[in-house]
Amino acid sequence: MISSKVIVVFSGAGASAESGIQTFRDSDGLWEEHRLEDVATPEAWAADPDLVTRFYNERRKRIIEAKPNKGHLQLAELEKMASVKVITQNIDDLHERAGSSDVLHLHGNIRYSKSSGPNQEREYYKIDGWELKESDRCSEGYRLRPHVVWFGEAVPAYEEALSILGLADILIVLGTSLQVYPAAGLIHYAMKATHKYIVDPKAETLDVPADFIRVKGGASEGIQNILPELKKVLSL
Ligand code: NAD
Repeated sequence: MISSKVIVVFSGAGASAESGIQTFRDSDGLWEEHRLEDVATPEAWAADPDLVTRFYNERRKRIIEAKPNKGHLQLAELEKMASVKVITQNIDDLHERAGSSDVLHLHGNIRYSKSSGPNQEREYYKIDGWELKESDRCSEGYRLRPHVVWFGEAVPAYEEALSILGLADILIVLGTSLQVYPAAGLIHYAMKATHKYIVDPKAETLDVPADFIRVKGGASEGIQNILPELKKVLSL
């Protein structure tokens, strides 16, 4: 039986941690090895597009090699119970590869590229394999850059994410430190009546409103633990 209720998942880097993809701010996180300004800003692209392209090629290679973890798979399975909409801050495609059919990438999708010219959001190009080449060009002749929202850039999918949040009967926030804005501000736009969960090993310390139920644990364990409660809310 499928409930008519809507589950919205808002995921961050921690959702992919069990797939071996580094998070962002944890002590072994990605940015321990690279200065953010050198690889993930428009200024970095302007200064050294080859370095930025190589950095994302390396990330893309690792993401292609990674497999969805049990957390991703459990979220995909929820589609058997209700309508599930995933809003992810992640640039990997592991939610989709686990079987989630409705995924909005707030910060882009590393498997795609876009123009570095003035019309960046007009067209996205699927990258064949892991390598975006220095010679790859968009239809207007500009060099292609990764389809990733860099620090200091606008978030074109934000409005769409806001309207999705407004539909949530259940909101599951998963694996995000809620430090990156404006994305982190989204959680404040869920309805009062929405059943809200935050699943994270650091759930007890994260800055969320009082009506969130804090579920301490990794993605797979945490989602597993809330399943019985979700079924109750969905009246299944
Ligand atoms: P973050 O690194 O700031 O926070 C990660 C969170 O995940 C922390 O709260 C941590 O406690 C939690 N975590 C660690 N292991 C976990 C596990 N096994 N299960 C569940 N949670 C776990 O990440 P963020 O808040 O998403 O912000 C990072 C930004 O960097 C995002 O905007 C994202 O675009 C980008 N990013 C993406 C990826 C990716 O695509 N996989 C990876 C790194 C960074």
